[in-house]
Amino acid sequence: MTGFDLIVIGSGPTGSAVARTVADTGPRARVLMVEAGPRLAGTLGGSVRNLVGDERTAAEAASEIPGEHPEASGPFARPGARSGTSYISNGRSYGNPFSGMPAAVMSANVGGLGVHWTGACPRPGGSERIGFLPAGQMNDLFEEAERLLHVTQDAYPMTQLRSTVERELGNVFDEGRPRDRRVQPMPLAAEPTPSGRPRWVGTDTILGTLAHRHPRFELRDCTLAERLIISGDRVIGVRLRDLRTGDVTKVTADAVAVAGDPFRTPQLLWASGIRPDALGRHLNDQPQIMCGIHLDPALLDGEFAASTAEHEREMLSGVSWIPFHEPGYPFHGQIMQREASPMGFGDTADGDARPVVGLGCFTTKEIRAEDRVTFSETETDAFGMPRPVIHYELTARDHAAVDRAVEIVLGLVSRMGEPVPGGAPTLQPAGSSIHYQGSYRMSAADDGTGVVDPEGRVWGFENLFLAGNGVIPTATACNPTLTSVAIAVGSGRAIAKQLET
Ligand SMILES: Cc1cc2nc3c(=O)[nH]c(=O)nc-3n(C[C@H](O)[C@H](O)[C@H](O)COP(=O)(O)OP(=O)(O)OC[C@H]3O[C@@H](n4cnc5c(N)ncnc54)[C@H](O)[C@@H]3O)c2cc1C
Repeated sequence: MTGFDLIVIGSGPTGSAVARTVADTGPRARVLMVEAGPRLAGTLGGSVRNLVGDERTAAEAASEIPGEHPEASGPFARPGARSGTSYISNGRSYGNPFSGMPAAVMSANVGGLGVHWTGACPRPGGSERIGFLPAGQMNDLFEEAERLLHVTQDAYPMTQLRSTVERELGNVFDEGRPRDRRVQPMPLAAEPTPSGRPRWVGTDTILGTLAHRHPRFELRDCTLAERLIISGDRVIGVRLRDLRTGDVTKVTADAVAVAGDPFRTPQLLWASGIRPDALGRHLNDQPQIMCGIHLDPALLDGEFAASTAEHEREMLSGVSWIPFHEPGYPFHGQIMQREASPMGFGDTADGDARPVVGLGCFTTKEIRAEDRVTFSETETDAFGMPRPVIHYELTARDHAAVDRAVEIVLGLVSRMGEPVPGGAPTLQPAGSSIHYQGSYRMSAADDGTGVVDPEGRVWGFENLFLAGNGVIPTATACNPTLTSVAIAVGSGRAIAKQLET
């Protein structure tokens, strides 16, 4: 067996944040990162959204997981999964788009979903925040996560179109809100460029110098962590399978961080015989309402409408944010430039020059222990790991929240213009948010309600850490990656400290 100080399993944003934090603060730690999927074109962990043409198509195809695209079946036919992702096949057909999370996806590639994402990085507010973590400590972690992700509100230029959208939304929502929770440009993990279209941040940016040749960091792609090797309350190593050759090796480590997403992190623990009752439970995603709006030209000045064809930059509406704010708006609103939106929302008629924006409204999900992922004792997934089975239902409270959100969205649409054909506000199938959380959640105490402690360490283990959206214990409506990267930074610091001693 060869040995490392730290093995990180999964190369998405949270695994990358753990590796980078340990490398920056740790005592010359040697870090191995393993990733089940392949390295894609471009820089290590670079966003595929910065690639163009065939290179982008090839990178997105390489991220998909063979054998994880079951044909749509039953009365509810699923559309194709979003580029670069694959549906979790879940071993069943779907009769209801809101039962069992039929739209849940995953990726397997260096950078994980973090090379396909939209980069929205709002801070959570009110009850979205984790009450048992001190606010000062959490704000410090948010700042570091924002630094690693290059978060900015200036990724898009301030155009007339964008200021019109934000003015109209502000007129509806801003009254009575503190300044930091008013309508504003979405904080994005993206960098401005002279064209006005941003360069998107992938895990290359999070990894920093680790994304280039680094003497103390190794990344093995197409390498599956298939078992954690346990001795008492310690993980002493990981059994790895090279998916290109089939070779199996064992690698020892002083600490292990699993950052494999809210389905595959519990899968690896379960396969390794670590099965606390909370593992896989409290699974939640954010019910998501989408619509497309033709903006009313009367909101914009005439000169602007005449000059749009010549001024592509002026047509950028960017991404705007209606922050979660209780009690009036316990939702998260995201108004997006059409091309920046990862979801379709209706069609525009040929020759219709009116600007179009997409509006996504996310609600919180009532958290219940019975919403969970379990694993089959007999069936395996495309990687030969125990097949996940998702049990998931919307409650009466969830439907009421959705109804209220749809009402608010309809009001916005009529104030700002009209829906594009086929773009009326619609609740998307469960799992569409790609913001799955809670399946190995954090708890303040080892009382059976959580899987990890506030530093991300598995309760009862000395040196096993989990990272990713699965640690988030609260019902959130905002995009979760900033929060899970912040928590991963905290785990990285705890690991570095532990390695020192
Ligand atoms: C189109 C799209 C848009 C999105 N937009 C946003 C957004 O605007 N804001 C936001 O906050 N979030 C967004 N997300 C979600 C965001 O990408 C995820 O929250 C984030 O990537 C989670 O990071 P992660 O590191 O926890 O996991 P992932 O990015 O899922 O990475 C996990 C990696 O671990 C690997 N892995 C799993 N198990 C094993 C194993 N046993 N052995 C080896 N490797 C393993 C997987 O192959 C995968 O590559 C979006 C996602 C998509 C697809």
